[in-house]
Amino acid sequence: MDVPILNNLLSIYYRSKFPLSLWCRWVAAGCSPLPLANRELSFTLAEDVYIRYLSIRRAHDLKLLLQKKCPYKIDIGAVYDSEPSISKQGSTVLARELVFDIDLTDYDDVRTCCQGADICQKCWKFMVIACQVLDRALTDDFGFTGVLWVYSGRRGIHCWVSCAEARSLSSAGRGAVADYLAVVSGGESQAKKVHLNSDNIHTSIKFAIEIIDKTFEEILVDQQFFSTPEGLGKLLKLIPDETLAAQVKKSIEELNTDSVLRWKAFEQIYKTFCREHTGNRRMKHLVEEIKLQLCYPRLDINVTKGLNHLLKAPFSVHPKTEKICVVFPAERVTSFQPDSVPLLNDLVDDEAPNHSQAVSSMQESVAIFQQHVFNLEKHTKRKRENGNDTLDF
Ligand SMILES: [Zn+2]
Repeated sequence: MDVPILNNLLSIYYRSKFPLSLWCRWVAAGCSPLPLANRELSFTLAEDVYIRYLSIRRAHDLKLLLQKKCPYKIDIGAVYDSEPSISKQGSTVLARELVFDIDLTDYDDVRTCCQGADICQKCWKFMVIACQVLDRALTDDFGFTGVLWVYSGRRGIHCWVSCAEARSLSSAGRGAVADYLAVVSGGESQAKKVHLNSDNIHTSIKFAIEIIDKTFEEILVDQQFFSTPEGLGKLLKLIPDETLAAQVKKSIEELNTDSVLRWKAFEQIYKTFCREHTGNRRMKHLVEEIKLQLCYPRLDINVTKGLNHLLKAPFSVHPKTEKICVVFPAERVTSFQPDSVPLLNDLVDDEAPNHSQAVSSMQESVAIFQQHVFNLEKHTKRKRENGNDTLDF
């Protein structure tokens, strides 16, 4: 899109559609009890001009800044001990939402429907699992509140955890949370990326497997992981016992290529093999390990560990797809469709064919965001009343 046209659309968007006041309340709640002005914002302008260390004291400042700069992208950074500015690069980070970035490109070694920047309804199912697994673990295992889910605008999702407990985590604390949640590890050269070493599977992982199991067969149908010789080869590489791998190879190659059929055959051969060869610890959780390797959320750990990593803001516009980075509730992730996300042009041009659909979809997302901000403010107020309104820096 031409720069002048895009600038014009963005200017209308920030003036009339962007939930400015609510957005500032959310960012401020994520700074509390420190002032909003201590938070770093950054803008990406036309031709990738990047401005860091911006800060605002009130919603009106943001309004003026948006009109003046018309950013193609808005990122949110950390909360510092003073107002961030280029001249104060030595400032200390005092708080930051705990954030997660999950991107479908990290599934390129398993998904067969798309690669790179492409996504479709089939591979979006990996994002559904990621959202459900992480939301449950963050809420139930860690007791965090204020978990917000945001579509990244292209091929992934972002998660922001805003309660004071999460915001005051040190880099080491974030690392510990990330390590707890990272089950799939190892680069391209490592075939087997999941190892459940203990005798009993951790409860959190059991829950993850339950979530995966709900759609595992559907994903097998969609992705046909094992239908090609290459796909079958990948499965065989995950089997640590050569005798079993050879048995699986021989039996499966005789079958038709359907992956559901091949997976069921593998499970059957594996079970029989385990009955005949008891005590093989490396094989105890093989079925679960393979399911996790194929479907468990793949996290960009560095984003979660870093205290001052900038992350694209909710309701920013994705500069390439022109999709709005809408928020959605975890409990409705199964019905979230990236194809139905409002596009900048549809939203601001009232003559666009999809205008009314884009407006209502945007309103729905803003209403979800509003409820989230209200809950977060209520939680912060309750903590203040209980005299527990400090962050443990
Ligand atoms: Zn796909």
